[in-house]
Amino acid sequence: MERSLFKPFLSIVIVMILSIFALAFTTGVELDFLPGVKMALPDEVGGWVGNELRFCHNAEACDRNYAHNGVYVSELDIPDICPDCGEMLYNMSRAESEQLPEDTEFLKSAYTNDAGTRIFTSVVLSGTARDSIHRPQRCLKGQGNTLDGEYTLDVPIEGREPLKVRVIKTSRIYQGPEGQVTYYGYYAYWFVGQDRETPYHLGRMFWLAWDRVVRSRANRWAYIAVSGTREETGNDYESDVIDFIESVYPYLLTETMRAKVYHDS
Ligand SMILES: [Zn+2]
Repeated sequence: MERSLFKPFLSIVIVMILSIFALAFTTGVELDFLPGVKMALPDEVGGWVGNELRFCHNAEACDRNYAHNGVYVSELDIPDICPDCGEMLYNMSRAESEQLPEDTEFLKSAYTNDAGTRIFTSVVLSGTARDSIHRPQRCLKGQGNTLDGEYTLDVPIEGREPLKVRVIKTSRIYQGPEGQVTYYGYYAYWFVGQDRETPYHLGRMFWLAWDRVVRSRANRWAYIAVSGTREETGNDYESDVIDFIESVYPYLLTETMRAKVYHDS
């Protein structure tokens, strides 16, 4: 074989051998189901009062065209039963439950402060069967949003280095009774593994692969999102995002993750 042909051939062989090794390692992957976050949100935190949400999946009644926006747990007479149709209520919407593996855990709540500002927060914990966290940008677009820009925001947290969160500015046009209305929103998020955190989707994918191959370990990643409305221009919403995340962050971590992040700084 000519040298010029042999070289790429050799590269392919090396890649194949490495892949076989990686596969051999991953078959012995130890599944560690202990997540980095607790699946519980505080009722009240730093001036923000929370109200957990539940969703009706009744396609014939409440959730025609996937339109059910959720009900507050605090307003239910019978826990987890839909007040309108009497069927069971769930932690995630029907669309979400159809798209995600069955063992994905979900938590959604709306927090309000004294000024009347409302922030929606959700925690999605990937299942044990397969990774179920999608790129947030893809989901936001799928819901009909236009993405108007994104950046990384530093959230100061007492006792450790600032937490990096990724912020996406969105807009969406609605047909109101008096014509078209634009809803301007923001969507801030970050990911937490058993002992890692990152605001980047690609960073998370990298650690997921790294932990499987190098540490022979697979764990469940969590995806935390904080969203609300914003003005058409400017970044005034950031003060609320920072204030809320600063307050709620310490409540979200499991002991392993807590020891890691507060020890490292
Ligand atoms: Zn219902």
